[in-house]
Amino acid sequence: MTKEVKRQFNDGSKIRREQELVSKMIYIYCKKKHHQKVFCVECQDLNDYARKKLSLCQFGEEKTACSKCPIHCYKQDYRQRIKDIMRFSGPWMLLYHPIESIRHIPIPGQLRK
Ligand SMILES: [Zn+2]
Repeated sequence: MTKEVKRQFNDGSKIRREQELVSKMIYIYCKKKHHQKVFCVECQDLNDYARKKLSLCQFGEEKTACSKCPIHCYKQDYRQRIKDIMRFSGPWMLLYHPIESIRHIPIPGQLRK
């Protein structure tokens, strides 16, 4: 069973932007929840994981928001953690980076159409 396809790492502008975004969100979460100035071990691990998943995303530059993706490429526990982080950091991202946030984050109450 050699389904392992050697794939090129994505390094398009969209993927890179999303990597920045996910790192920012994890950073906010870690800073506010774990009171760290840099990533704690756990968040560093999740950050590496999320960035790697983006690099390997089979949709590359064509990808939609991860939350809308039909393929769940995250392992269960990572998926749960990133969800918590999105939920926690989402409102902060709207504050800090409103434009990039809008496509990705489930918008809370008053902004939903
Ligand atoms: Zn942390």
